[in-house]
Amino acid sequence: MAGPQVVVVGGGPAAAALVHGLHRGGHEGSVVVLAGEGCTPYDRTAVSKGLLTGEVPTAPELFPEVLTADVVRHADVVEIDRAAREVVTGDDDRIGFDRLVLATGAAPRVPPVPGLDGPHASTLRDAAEAAVLAERLRPGARLVVVGAGLIGLEVAAAARTRGASVTVLEAAPTALSRVLPTVVSEVVLSRHAAEGIDVRLGTPPSAVVSSSSSSGQAVVVLADGTELPADHVLVATGVAPRTDLAAAAGLAVDDGVLVDERLVTSDPAIMAIGDVARVRAADGTTARHEAYTPAMAMGQHAARTILGEPTRFVDVPWSWSDQLDLSIQVAGWPDRADRWVLRGSAEDLDAGLFAFGVRDGRLVAATGVSRGRQVGRIVRGAQALVAAGLDVDDAALADPSTDLRRLARTG
Ligand SMILES: Cc1cc2nc3c(=O)[nH]c(=O)nc-3n(C[C@H](O)[C@H](O)[C@H](O)COP(=O)(O)OP(=O)(O)OC[C@H]3O[C@@H](n4cnc5c(N)ncnc54)[C@H](O)[C@@H]3O)c2cc1C
Repeated sequence: MAGPQVVVVGGGPAAAALVHGLHRGGHEGSVVVLAGEGCTPYDRTAVSKGLLTGEVPTAPELFPEVLTADVVRHADVVEIDRAAREVVTGDDDRIGFDRLVLATGAAPRVPPVPGLDGPHASTLRDAAEAAVLAERLRPGARLVVVGAGLIGLEVAAAARTRGASVTVLEAAPTALSRVLPTVVSEVVLSRHAAEGIDVRLGTPPSAVVSSSSSSGQAVVVLADGTELPADHVLVATGVAPRTDLAAAAGLAVDDGVLVDERLVTSDPAIMAIGDVARVRAADGTTARHEAYTPAMAMGQHAARTILGEPTRFVDVPWSWSDQLDLSIQVAGWPDRADRWVLRGSAEDLDAGLFAFGVRDGRLVAATGVSRGRQVGRIVRGAQALVAAGLDVDDAALADPSTDLRRLARTG
């Protein structure tokens, strides 16, 4: 018997993992991915790293053996007709579905500062934008990055590697505050400073205006009147989930499309996965992630649900960032920590510095930074401990000889 007709709106990593999972699980119905970007899915994490430095010539494709041009169609979906069980594309095609999966991701937010939406500024979300930005990062070019989050600092590092001079403006008093405690972010900032990157905290731009001199294309004006000449301004001030379609269709939305633990929305025929989805856990808490591995995990999970093996999506998120020679990793939910336990030292980044976030005696987050990939073993071990939900002892967390993965197994 033929399986359900699955329509996916998206074309990013979450959509790719879903289609791969359906294929591997022997899905017998048809699958169509309606992808706004006009290309088959690729690894978006290269956009602010290898694609800018030139180390990666083209964005690595995801599961090209399954995500063929027959499956992925270039189309912008403009409406979900829930009554007819159809989606409508910008070309007015109507495509019927038994199961619809929203994997529309997130889009950069641009703060309402004059000039940040102008000709001298851009955002960075996709490979096409990376190609344009990479062209501008010539040796000696002046780049001003607005926002010292993961993407802003990755771009700063890549631009510096290419010989550009870089200033980063951050409105908050700390950098990377969404994902790292200050003790770890300060290590990252000093590495940027050592490379000649000028990171200014508590310093939002007031305006970007066209330059009247030959000293650059634009001038970034600060609140105290300081003027920074710039050849280009990169706006990296966070993203917002692309929920418009879902909201217009009357699905429950609250900073993300709300889904239950099976990743099903308020309409049983429609699921949402990846950056756009906000998952409600059994205890009523909700979480939305902006990271590659959780997006892939949700895609695989949704595939199992469609294949008739529904289970609760329980995932401790994990993500990484590469900046200069530093590897940064984050597991769990840093925003839930009420205190941090440290391991290691900023003086020995070959071994790494780690901060473990604790709440009510349980580990809820692990963050770390190291030169090279050393950080991974410990943050991954801590991820298992977060998942185990056991009470943890501060001394054990701080002790470099404690094997966190084993602790997760043995309690
Ligand atoms: C520059 C950059 C670097 C990153 N680096 C890292 C990293 O190092 N580590 C990490 O863990 N995470 C990283 N991330 C985050 C990670 O890439 C995202 O979490 C992941 O891409 C989310 O996948 P997704 O499939 O949910 O959405 P997306 O990747 O955003 O894909 C959504 C797709 O849907 C399309 N779409 C949207 N609306 C429609 C519509 N109406 N019709 C048709 N198509 C539509 C969009 O064009 C897009 O192609 C990075 C993100 C960026 C932007």
